[in-house]
Amino acid sequence: MAAADQAKRIYHFGGGTADGDETMKALLGGKGANLGAMARMGLPVPPGFTLATPLCLAYGVSKALPHGLMDDVRKAIGKVEALTGKTFGKGPDPLLVSVRSGAAVSMPGMMDTVLNLGMNPEVSAALGALAGERFAKDSERRFIQMFGNVVDGIEGKNFEAALDAVKHDKGVIEDTALDAAALDDVIARYREVYQAETGRSFPDDPWEQLQRSIEAVFASWGNIRAVTYRRINQIPDDLGTAVNVQAMVYGNLGDDCGTGVGFTRNPSNGAKGFYGEFLPNAQGEDVVAGIRTPIPVKAAQAAAVDLAGLSLEERHPQIHGELMAVATKLEDFYGDVQDLEFTFERDTLYLLQTRTAKRTGHAWLMTQTDLVAEGKITPNQAIARIPATSLAQVLAPSLDTSAASSKPLAQGLNAGPGAATGRIAFTADDAEARAALDIPIILVREDTTPEDIHGMHAAQGILTARGGLTSHAAVVARGMGKPCIVGCSALRIDEANETLTIEDSDLVLGPGDTITIDGTTGAVLLGEQAITTSEVLQVLVDRTLPESESPLAAAFNKVMKWSDDARKLEVRTNADTPNDALVARALGAEGIGLCRSEHMFFETDRILAMRRVILSSKKRHREAALAGIEPFQKEDFKGLFRVMRGKPVTIRTLDPPLHEFLPHSEEDIKALARQGRWSVEQVRSRIAALRESNPMLGHRGCRLGILYPEITRMQARAIASAALEVAAEGVDVQAEIMIPLVGHVRELALQRAEVEAELDELFEKAGRRVNIRIGTMIEIPRAALTAGEIATEAQFFSFGTNDLTQMTLGVSRDDAGTFLPDYVGMGIYTMDPFVSLDQSGVGRLMRIAVREGRKERPALKVGICGEHGGDPSSVGFCHTLGLNYVSCSPYRVPIARLAAAQAALAD
Ligand code: ADP
Ligand code: MG
Ligand code: MG
Repeated sequence: MAAADQAKRIYHFGGGTADGDETMKALLGGKGANLGAMARMGLPVPPGFTLATPLCLAYGVSKALPHGLMDDVRKAIGKVEALTGKTFGKGPDPLLVSVRSGAAVSMPGMMDTVLNLGMNPEVSAALGALAGERFAKDSERRFIQMFGNVVDGIEGKNFEAALDAVKHDKGVIEDTALDAAALDDVIARYREVYQAETGRSFPDDPWEQLQRSIEAVFASWGNIRAVTYRRINQIPDDLGTAVNVQAMVYGNLGDDCGTGVGFTRNPSNGAKGFYGEFLPNAQGEDVVAGIRTPIPVKAAQAAAVDLAGLSLEERHPQIHGELMAVATKLEDFYGDVQDLEFTFERDTLYLLQTRTAKRTGHAWLMTQTDLVAEGKITPNQAIARIPATSLAQVLAPSLDTSAASSKPLAQGLNAGPGAATGRIAFTADDAEARAALDIPIILVREDTTPEDIHGMHAAQGILTARGGLTSHAAVVARGMGKPCIVGCSALRIDEANETLTIEDSDLVLGPGDTITIDGTTGAVLLGEQAITTSEVLQVLVDRTLPESESPLAAAFNKVMKWSDDARKLEVRTNADTPNDALVARALGAEGIGLCRSEHMFFETDRILAMRRVILSSKKRHREAALAGIEPFQKEDFKGLFRVMRGKPVTIRTLDPPLHEFLPHSEEDIKALARQGRWSVEQVRSRIAALRESNPMLGHRGCRLGILYPEITRMQARAIASAALEVAAEGVDVQAEIMIPLVGHVRELALQRAEVEAELDELFEKAGRRVNIRIGTMIEIPRAALTAGEIATEAQFFSFGTNDLTQMTLGVSRDDAGTFLPDYVGMGIYTMDPFVSLDQSGVGRLMRIAVREGRKERPALKVGICGEHGGDPSSVGFCHTLGLNYVSCSPYRVPIARLAAAQAALAD
């Protein structure tokens, strides 16, 4: 491992050595660290150097490069000159460099890079004399465009308009068809654009170009796209980006040169074998930008898309062979699928970048289990790196191909699996605006750019006409876990008129039309289509498919088994019905952490009875009404006990805000009056008396049971008698009764006394007992702060982190939508605290509660049953708190199992 030196600001790579290596991502960014690693491995990396990330953070504060840095940069350039035999800023063999961003966490396309820097008219002339005039001019115009865009913020469309004008004049379609004279024209126009937009002439001093580009890349850490990307992906702001300055190599020297990108395995489905694309006579971003359609690296892939004979494998077998050798070497070195950038100058291959590949949940499962099977990594290494939330994609529904009612409209590349249906949006802004109105959206674009990121986030799925599996749309959609189809070349998109037509079809679609995309197969269909259960669920839950016929389900099961071997936390589920419980058990739940018993009250015939309970002023009437509900509750509980045999089932006593029970419509009020033999007026005045202006802080939770103990009694009776009856069937019943919304130990004491009295009575009568534990939710800050007292009455705690978050932050979870997204956008909270636990605030209360509770009662079982129980980072936090279990919704159970294992492995 290379040593990190505090004062060292510049790290060299190239010529078979490097100051840095792959362990130094925090300091050098992922790109810089891996360039160092590749140089050390002896791979052909153009030489260069990395300016470390602390410089970026310093730049963010002072808006200037530290004193003397440019002197060091000059020395570093000198080293690159020595290694390449070229000279920066002058002929006869000029050195051009790229200035590349690169943070510790990969943020594809979010920050900026300038290519061909060090260019001016004299340099261009020297380069032209050496390597061809057309090539020199092409590099020069690329530089002016990128520099103008990145450093001076000139919108790309200004340059594109100038380029299009020249292409139009010359009657050519592709950039590559412009000759040197035409490019001269482009350059002159570009310089005019620069002058017009900035009021200054284009800087021809290479050192000025270099300094300003370095500053611009550091500044790009703070641009809106990058900030948005970090918010969405929960990346901290204080990492900073490094800057890599690297000698240029040229894929645009002619048709026998090119540039490309590739994955060491298929990032969409995980299939073994290299998957990549390249463009002849091209540079840098041309491949992902979708300007020309890229050509597959592999012959088989090319044949499949009518490009037979054109693949890199067929056209440049030597380069192809070297690339395959490099791919294997890199994958073995990193022990994981790599995503790499390469360029070839005639017979010489260069590697520009490698990083761990982003992939779909499907690909994660397949590649990790394959790598274990190949003996390249251990099971624990495999599970440590699978993003836990990617499992959600594998469980997501996909298009039901057997039922697909219409023939596909068009076929593209399957870039992100899963099916999605929505209305068409042609711009990211429109997608965002309509998605905010709960309209499902499919974002349809020619191709996407980093400016579209908010629209991609808002959309259900993404469809583009251009690009391959490595295009921006594909990479970002996979990262977001969204269904995505790219390269759907039959689409004709008219953004200005908001119409979508399809080659060989008379259909004209607009924003009002619904389409369905199947990212698993690449099919685009008209209208809403039948969607089917995921293959994994078919195997595990429905049992309609044998595991032997689903390699994906087999991989899923392996990963789950490895996770179970590693984790310490138990994973339970939140389930209210036997059916939910069945699904959760099939997905590995080890019990029910939360059954919301009030959900059983909401069915029509039961709610009337419940309303009578609440509106009655006499206990006798309330008991009579409750007696009508009791048999239903008992049956529901029996169902849960049977499904969860041998595993704990935690039932929470009644806990909805009171107003949810009250009738609102005239009709309901009349029905209730009839049923309870009240006058409509009586009902109205009782409702008025019960009205609360703040129901969330009102008469709910145990407060109901305390004023109406017969409700708690009825529930205790239903639970205990269900337990007795199911136990009599020979089932091991592990029932737990949980009292909600306790803030004071006396509340719990009162409720517990009611429950125990009821249980004793019942068991006495039955002549048998079952063991039923009694515990409480910790969801009011006061409960957390007095957990020691509360533990004297509780056999277990379960953190209700939805309410605990609401009450600790003073943010209503029902109204949070009005300002919380802005708060998150502004970084006040870095993540939505209702999604990911606020560890420093709410987490602190939890820590206190665990410590004080266990001090009083060392065997106290503690779990969590809020939404956070299925959020990986919150699960990790629960592990470090030493909780016994997390409980989450059924489909999150696998995610929690994996996240719990990752937390245990991180210890
Ligand atoms: P990003 O992080 O957006 O991928 P990069 O810094 O990797 O940006 O560069 C953008 C493109 O330019 C990539 O295709 C990369 O391979 C290419 N590139 C960067 N530096 C050089 C160089 N020195 N020579 C040739 N191509 C380069
Ligand atoms: Mg790159
Ligand atoms: Mg609650």
